[in-house]
Amino acid sequence: MKILITGGSGFIGSNFVLQQIYSTNNTILNLDKLTYAGNPENLYSIQNYERYDFVQGDICDNTLVSETISNFQPNAIVHFAAESHVDRSIDDPMEFVNTNIIGTATMLDASLKYCEDNNINGEFKFLHVSTDEVFGSLGDNEFFTETTSYDPSSPYSASKAGSDHLVRAWQRTYGFPALITNCSNNYGPYQFPEKLVPLMIANCFDEKPLPVYGEGLNVRDWLFVEDHCEAIYEVLQNGKIGDIYNIGGNNEIRNIDIVNTICSSLDELKPRSNGKSYIDLITYVKDRPGHDFRYAIDATKIKNTLNWEPKETFETGIGKTIQWYLDNESWWREIQDGTYNQERLGIKR
Ligand code: NAD
Repeated sequence: MKILITGGSGFIGSNFVLQQIYSTNNTILNLDKLTYAGNPENLYSIQNYERYDFVQGDICDNTLVSETISNFQPNAIVHFAAESHVDRSIDDPMEFVNTNIIGTATMLDASLKYCEDNNINGEFKFLHVSTDEVFGSLGDNEFFTETTSYDPSSPYSASKAGSDHLVRAWQRTYGFPALITNCSNNYGPYQFPEKLVPLMIANCFDEKPLPVYGEGLNVRDWLFVEDHCEAIYEVLQNGKIGDIYNIGGNNEIRNIDIVNTICSSLDELKPRSNGKSYIDLITYVKDRPGHDFRYAIDATKIKNTLNWEPKETFETGIGKTIQWYLDNESWWREIQDGTYNQERLGIKR
């Protein structure tokens, strides 16, 4: 396959590109604007591979997107590019509306024209990567299924919901061959250190306070990023055009338990010089406005129809993740020196 990937220099996108290059014979073109979240270092190891190429550009730029698609002639597009951090969406919502809504519409419009101009029928697919946050917050015993109503709370989740609706509209109105995946919280290598797991690891290293929102009781369903990438590829190859697939890790965990796990693990792997536990650094801070309480995915459909299940448990996945951040300190130190210094975001307004 020739796959055009948007946002391939970000966290999940770069894991997907690496998996594609190392585990398949597919040819990959990565279209990425390289915002603060896009890091060419993530793909340094494959930059000279024949089956990999890169175009720097904005998915909102219609001319560039159209030219990139028609020059590359992909069989598939996997659309990751987005503004992805809820706290940043509270500070600067318009950036999210532009990239997530206008950018997705631009990708759809250019892809549909490419199919029409080249008479492509049944040989092209567009997979839109989305989030479970579009469904809003859950009560205690509920789960998100593929038919759960949309009820987004943050500018981020609302902009992703808008992009999902556009994909569905292109599919229903124009017969455009699209698929949508809605996935739970990811963690793993190459995640920008503003997100919970890498932020806590980085702050432990620097013995800085570990900021936990509210009482730390919010629940997320955590999935190791490589499992997510395998699920996306499975849906791309064997998913039913027009369908939606929920992807989750069956790992419902409270934020405070994630932080405690990271602290206990680092107590063993990298003990503090004063002999105390990293747990002493936990600091409860004012909750995020509009903070959804609980997300949990019912992943029965993808399990029953595509035989996909996560390979990692939370224990094995978080172990690999912590070890990766220990082994790749220079990767996140360079980010700290550039755009982000582990400060709290989402409190400008
Ligand atoms: P990320 O923020 O790490 O990466 C986003 C990438 O998109 C970056 O490389 C960035 O440079 C690029 N980008 C941003 N704006 C762009 C633009 N206008 N044009 C071209 N490129 C642009 O995000 P991520 O965590 O890897 O998430 C990838 C996708 O997966 C997003 O669509 C997100 O909504 C979705 N998702 C993420 C999670 C999660 O836990 N991280 C869970 C479910 C779904």
